[in-house]
Amino acid sequence: MSEWTYAPAPESSALANLRPSYRPFVDGEFVDGGGEPLKTVNPATEEVLAEVGTADRGDVERAVAAARRAYDEVWGPMPGAQRAKYLFRIARVVAERARELSVLEALDNGKPIRESRDVDVPLASQHLFHHAGWADKLEYSGAGSRSLGVVGAVIPWNFPLLMAAWKVAPALACGNTIVLKPAETTPLTALVLAEIAADAGLPPGVLNVLPGAGDVGAAVVGSPVDKVAFTGSTEVGRQIQRSLAGTRRRLTLELGGKAANIVYADAALDQAVEGIVDGIFFNQGHVCCAGSRLLVQEAVVEELVERLQERVRTLRVGDPLDKNTDVGAINSRAQLDRIVDLAAAGDAEGAVRWTSPCPLPERGLFFPPTVFSGVEPTMRVAREEIFGPVLSVLTFRTPDEAVAKANDTAYGLSAGVWTEKGAKALWTAQRLRAGVVWANTFNRFDPASPFGGFGESGFGREGGRAGLAAYLAG
Ligand code: NAP
Ligand code: MG
Repeated sequence: MSEWTYAPAPESSALANLRPSYRPFVDGEFVDGGGEPLKTVNPATEEVLAEVGTADRGDVERAVAAARRAYDEVWGPMPGAQRAKYLFRIARVVAERARELSVLEALDNGKPIRESRDVDVPLASQHLFHHAGWADKLEYSGAGSRSLGVVGAVIPWNFPLLMAAWKVAPALACGNTIVLKPAETTPLTALVLAEIAADAGLPPGVLNVLPGAGDVGAAVVGSPVDKVAFTGSTEVGRQIQRSLAGTRRRLTLELGGKAANIVYADAALDQAVEGIVDGIFFNQGHVCCAGSRLLVQEAVVEELVERLQERVRTLRVGDPLDKNTDVGAINSRAQLDRIVDLAAAGDAEGAVRWTSPCPLPERGLFFPPTVFSGVEPTMRVAREEIFGPVLSVLTFRTPDEAVAKANDTAYGLSAGVWTEKGAKALWTAQRLRAGVVWANTFNRFDPASPFGGFGESGFGREGGRAGLAAYLAG
């Protein structure tokens, strides 16, 4: 009998309801931005999806002024229970239009439909529901109930709709208004979110969405907003912190990571393998909290790496719209080049590269799942965020050594621990310098659970009561 294989199971791209052009959303209306329009592409084919109008400085000024007026006259004075009604409405429509948003996200970002459908969009809607529930209960948050004013938010391309929801939901629930700058390569779902907000009757100016490149982000950050919320690279985060120093503007930064995923010899290895795969190959590894440094206790390293390779071989790389695809396209040529360069540095420094033999599509931006073993803590593949489907495997002998190696990083966003002993998991977690530590699981998110980092991973929390505090004046 011939070998069994998967039949194609593509989701229809028509569900995305793609339009030829999209425009900035300012003061309750879609407007022609003054900036040079950009073309957003589907990284799986490198074909243009749509033309997107961008903002110029004048648009940023108008958006911030509209957000200020809406804050002073409408949204700030509005009772929390009223604000909640709008947020519930938006959350419901995001859930109702989930299929459209999932396909649009997969097209614009390159992530597999399985993930946009099962993770990004449901979590975005949950985040909106969760915060809608808080809007009239802020006095019980422990962080006060006074809003800050106008929020300027800048988000990256790895979770475009989800990151928009992570900023918009708490900002609006706490009574602030917002000016949001999506990433240049993934502006579409944030603009559909603006459309949903307009359909929900959200008062003009409460939410403004300004597509454009980094200069638009810099203009938003540099304008007279009361708080800046940024997710992206450590380098840009640093620039923003410098530019806000000495002002009274509040700032939260959610930056990169180089998370350790620690596997003790007593762990359930097959279960750990699933968590390792999810930790680094989810979303092509474009995840700030990705478990990109695997630390394995020496006694089981050979067995674990063997089982891991066996599992990684089965990952299907390809068409993001195919429901059987596990790993989709790399979002941009620039990011693909960066992954190729850092992997080459791994070879040059003597790590041993293993590449999954999976077939890759003939066109589009793809990188095969890759595992480096024999990695030393000084190597670039152990220190720098690759932000791609590349795992570095290091070893340790004792729990103390595991903790020391895990903490030997400038970052501190997340970590994982795998062991059958609860006490060992807790002992380790207490010593890890990371905002989130997962035990016997990885990449779990919940709107009620705070997320954020230490060190070069930034500061401030998103989600939970700590996340509300970032949008309240006390
Ligand atoms: P980035 O440059 O920091 O981009 C994040 C956001 O900031 C984007 O909307 C970007 O606009 C905008 N931006 C760029 N320069 C700015 C400036 N001077 N002032 C204000 N906003 C500015 O990150 P990236 O280029 O997308 O990715 C680079 C690396 O950052 C990745 O390889 C990864 O290591 C890390 N990263 C981390 C996360 C995370 O979730 N923590 C997310 C993405 C990337 P444009 O879209 O136009 O550039
Ligand atoms: Mg795109």
